[in-house]
Amino acid sequence: MKTYIPKYIKEKSRGLLSKKIKQSTALLTSCTLCPRQCKVNRTKEEKGYCSTGKKAFVSSFSAHFGEEPQLVGDKGSGTIFFSNCNLKCIFCQNYDISVNGTGQEVEDESIASIMLYLQKIGCHNINLVTPSHVVPQVLKALDIAIDFGLNIPLIYNCSGYESIDTLSILKGIIDIYMPDFKFWNPKISKTYCNALNYPQIARNAVKEMFDQVGDLKIDEAGIAYSGLLVRHLVMPGNLDGTYHILKFLKEKISSHTHVNIMSQYHPMGNTGKIKELSFPLTPEEFRSAMQMAKKFDLKIIR
Ligand code: SF4
Repeated sequence: MKTYIPKYIKEKSRGLLSKKIKQSTALLTSCTLCPRQCKVNRTKEEKGYCSTGKKAFVSSFSAHFGEEPQLVGDKGSGTIFFSNCNLKCIFCQNYDISVNGTGQEVEDESIASIMLYLQKIGCHNINLVTPSHVVPQVLKALDIAIDFGLNIPLIYNCSGYESIDTLSILKGIIDIYMPDFKFWNPKISKTYCNALNYPQIARNAVKEMFDQVGDLKIDEAGIAYSGLLVRHLVMPGNLDGTYHILKFLKEKISSHTHVNIMSQYHPMGNTGKIKELSFPLTPEEFRSAMQMAKKFDLKIIR
């Protein structure tokens, strides 16, 4: 394979990155970065649903070996965990980071330094975990990091609750989109994520992501460098609607959609008093979800 050049490098060389920084930063003054549409002035430190003002917060960064093998390789995926979240599921497996906001406020220059550090220690990619509410900050950091030699693929690892306008800004920047697709039923997403419109938003977002990057592409060493990878956390009692989500991916996105069927649901976060969320997933439930993915002949990532 020819050496892969990340999309953001080409976009910057065309002079389009600075335009995207301006476009996304403008959204902060009456914030419509995500579907919550809070319209708070984050440049004046007003806080909306994501509890984040002008600057990003980072909880941790590292060469991560717990991600998909196609992202991890032998040197790890360079994860940057952003604190807070625009979705805040009550069962979040990273509740302390996403809802309690554990982390440190960082300058854009610091995010750039983190990116360069992760590249320096050999990570195969920069994996932005929960970046939806800090897109302008990420773009500014990226602009700096490119000047200092950043040249590994950029992963947008998100909940699927994304604004199409913001995704349009990210066109030509992101190499790999890795959204969750969590729920099919609006009443359930309302109950667990306070987002009645999650299923429709996620359908539109995944379609836009696929239109931008296409199916996942993997090099001869087994490392993904471009495309779409959808994560689906199987929930107890089929709360998630696995069948409908997989059918949608097969029929409306691509028959070659790469999907990671995830088994690690455990009662966490604020699930204590919610009966249907207070049990871990059973092996039978996970097996059933895997059988569905196989029946649809999707590309199952393991
Ligand atoms: S990014 Fe935050 S403040 Fe902006 S619309 Fe989304 S939740 Fe609201």
